[in-house]
Parts: sequence; C-alpha cells; structure tokens
Amino acid sequence: MRPKVAIVGRPNVGKSTLFNRLIGLRQAIVHDRPGVTRDRRYGAAGIADFEFEAIDTAGYEDTPDSQLEQAMQAQTARALAEADAIMLLIDARAGITPVDSQFAEEVRRAEKPVILVANKCEGRAGQPGLLEAFSLGLGDPIPVSAEHGEGMGDLYDALVEALGRPEDLVEAPVAEPSATMPDEAETSVDLDVEAEPKALQIVIVGRPNVGKSTLLNRLVDEERVITGAMPGLTRDAIAVDWEYQGRPVRLIDTAGMRRRARVSDSLERLSVGDTNRAIRFAHVVVLMIDAIEGLEKQDLAIARMVEEEGRALVLAVNKWDAVKDREATLQRISDRLETSLAQLRGIRVVTFSALTGHRVERLMQAVTQVYDTWNIRVPTGRLNRWFSALQEAHPPPLVAGRRLKLRYITQIKRRPPTFAVFSARAGSLPTAYVRYLINGLRQDFQLDGVPIRVVLRQPENPYVDED
Ligand code: GDP
Ligand code: GDP
Repeated sequence: MRPKVAIVGRPNVGKSTLFNRLIGLRQAIVHDRPGVTRDRRYGAAGIADFEFEAIDTAGYEDTPDSQLEQAMQAQTARALAEADAIMLLIDARAGITPVDSQFAEEVRRAEKPVILVANKCEGRAGQPGLLEAFSLGLGDPIPVSAEHGEGMGDLYDALVEALGRPEDLVEAPVAEPSATMPDEAETSVDLDVEAEPKALQIVIVGRPNVGKSTLLNRLVDEERVITGAMPGLTRDAIAVDWEYQGRPVRLIDTAGMRRRARVSDSLERLSVGDTNRAIRFAHVVVLMIDAIEGLEKQDLAIARMVEEEGRALVLAVNKWDAVKDREATLQRISDRLETSLAQLRGIRVVTFSALTGHRVERLMQAVTQVYDTWNIRVPTGRLNRWFSALQEAHPPPLVAGRRLKLRYITQIKRRPPTFAVFSARAGSLPTAYVRYLINGLRQDFQLDGVPIRVVLRQPENPYVDED
C-alpha cells in the first residue's frame, strides 16, 4: 500500500503547486487567489523511488469569510484523519501568520509524522519566514520551492524519515535476492530492520573521459552487486547496491544519463539539470577529475552545486599513474581549491588510479569518513563551552553602539551539520562574523569537506533577553 500524505496549510501557501509538482503533472489550474481549487484531490505522487498518495486540501472559495476558518478546519481534519503523514506548508515569504499557528496546532493533535515545509524559498526571499517556522515547534522546516522544483531532495529525505525507506514500503519482494547474495553464514536474515544502517548513497560525477566508468567497474567487479533501475531519477540511472566494510552502500550510476547526453549533445556533457538531480539524491558526491587536466571551471561549478545542496564532497583525482610531476600537480589542484572553493574548506583530495586500482581503497575510505562527518552530532554542552571561548577571543561587533550578545548555540540538524545561534538582535549580526563562526566550527570540530549551515534565531520577545 502506498502511504497517504496530506498536504495542508492556509490558502495561498502553494499546496496545489506542490501537489502538481509531486504528481508530475500540471493540469490543475493554479491562480494567484486564495483557495481556487474546489475539492480535495488525490494523486499518485512521487519523488524518485519514493511513491505515495498525495492528498491536496483546498477549496474555500464559496465559503463566506465568517465560516472560512471552520470550513478549513473541517477539510483539514478529514485529510488528517486518513493520512499516514502530513506535510504542513507555510509561505516562507509571508512568514508565520496566526492561521499558520492554528494549523500547526491542529496538525500536532493528529499525532502523525509531520513534515514542515517552507515553500517559496527560491532565491533568498524566504529566509526570514524559514527562521520563524522553527517557532511552530514542529521540527526543522524543509525549504522548498514548489514552483521551481527546488528542495525535492530534502523533501525526499524527510519523507524517508517520516515513513521509512521506499523499499520497506513495497508489498511484495521485487527481486529474488538469494541468487546474488554471498553464501557465507553472515547472510543469515537479520530481522531487526530498525537496527540496520541505511545505505550510504554515492554519486560519481565529472566531465566525460575522466574515468567514471572505469572506477565504477572496478568498484563493482570487486563486490557482489545487485543492480536495478532507479525510477524517478532519470530513465537510465542505475542504483548499484553493495557493502563496503559492513556498511550498505548504494552507488547511483549516471552512466545512462551520460549516454543519453551524448546523443543529443555534441559536447558530450552531462546537462546541469541532470548533474544537479544526481547530486540531490546522493549523500556523498565523488567529483572526479583527470589529474593531467586539473580542475576546470565546470568542476568548480559542480562543487558549488554540491555545497548548495548540502551534500558531502570528495575530490577524486584520477589517472595518477600517468602523472609525471606529482608534487606540482597536487600543488596546482590545492591552490585552485583554496582560491575558488573557500566554502568547502578541508575537502578531501584523493589521488588514485581507477585503471590500476591503486588507492581506490583510499578513495572509499575518504567517502565513508566524510559521510560520518556529514552525519555528526555535536553535543550542546561542548558547543557552548567552545562558543564562549570563541566570543572571548573575538567578540561580536558593536552594532549601533552596543555590543551584540550571542547567547547560545545548538546543532539543530545533521546532514549537513546545521547550527542555530540565538541572539536578541540576531538580525544585525554581520555576515563576516557568521563566516568566522563557520570557520571556527569547521576547524575545532573537524567538519572538513562538508557544508556547514548557521541560522540566526531571535527569541520571540527580543527585549526579554536584553540587558
Ligand atoms: P494553495 O492555495 O495553497 O493551493 O496555493 P497555490 O498552489 O494555488 O499557490 C498560491 C500562489 O503561490 C500562486 O500564485 C503560486 O504561483 C504561488 N506559488 C506557489 N509555489 C510557489 C513558489 O515556490 N514560489 C513562489 N514564489 N510562488 C509560489
Ligand atoms: P568516463 O567518460 O568518465 O566514464 O571515462 P572512462 O571510464 O570511459 O575513461 C576514459 C578513458 O580514460 C579510458 O580510455 C580509460 O581507459 C582511461 N582511464 C580511466 N582511468 C584511468 C587511470 O586511472 N589511468 C589512466 N592512465 N587512464 C585511465
């Protein structure tokens, strides 16, 4: 049975737009006017391999204002009752309104998994509303743009967190696994599914001819694999599952995507859209380059995309066997990283040869290490001890003649590490100081090679906290 997910929220937050995006059709009419959709609608929805039944709640246009609230509540209540999980939408541009809070209250009462979705987050205009959304007490808001299709990877992760992995939701087994499983005793069925770690999802990206297929074949040849088409990502993308040192790994092979690109694109380039999509479904992105060619503009663009999508990155420098002056080559690469990729300091660079297999093992180690960093949880006590020391060493600046006080820091999210800093005047903290914080976090907690996010939060009543 596909799980049912209700999309609820006050009029005009973008429920229908998100619904249409998720069912991949655009047939419903969307107007810039509250409540234009007449009835609750149901649709077969999906993000990549996660399929579900979406319930769109809307349709208050015939309701007199006096009864609007009541009608909305009745509609929402019905959807909530039948849903397995709830997406509560807010409009991050408009911020949190009293009606949003009412919806939050009602959603909370349903006692079902809730995904708080902050819509209209394209560009930066949604930032303030995104922060306000924390105040609803429904967990971390997922920033998306229903209209532009942004944030779908994070929404996918949130669905998995709320409802479990898609393969656990499948009714009947789709493949007979015994034929491809090793016959050793350790394959005895582990019934404790909860305890099983989720697969580490890796995607290998890079320009044509850097050696992606060679690496893939090497990785796959040495392991027993189960392959299967991965729907939703692209028609041809293949997920290869195997184990690396006891942990499940899923390699998303974009080879098919490249083959298709070759047909239509004489430059043999993977389109930006395809690369971006692949990145969104990965935990760790292996950006592969040819050591002799070095880092080019396009590679840096991909690296920045990885940072923006909040994924972990490893730079894989292939064809090391063919390099003559190794020292100079490595120097050139690290110089380029230093000047052009400051936002991903400490990124792991692994030189190796896919052809000979030399140091391929090292590459995999780097991947699992950066994955662990990406998943890290820093205890709040440790963070705050560090935080006061940091502020002593370099106090926050004066703003309008008064010293800014930063009260407290806590990690609000993993994957990537995301920290909230509380201050009565959080809005006035200069970006240079935020950058200083990020650099400090990276250095002192060894958060190398992963994006770090810092969000600033202002307590509800800013004056309470002020001396
Ligand atoms: P509903 O009443 O909650 O179903 O909202 P609709 O889906 O009808 O959207 C209301 C308005 O918000 C429409 O004008 C949409 O075009 C607009 N909208 C929806 N999603 C986005 C988005 O991601 N970004 C922006 N800027 N506008 C959006
Ligand atoms: P892709 O387009 O990124 O998938 O690249 P391929 O895997 O098809 O490799 C392109 C070319 O580079 C092939 O001729 C490979 O044999 C060669 N190649 C791949 N890895 C290495 C390597 O580690 N060393 C050397 N010298 N050549 C390699």
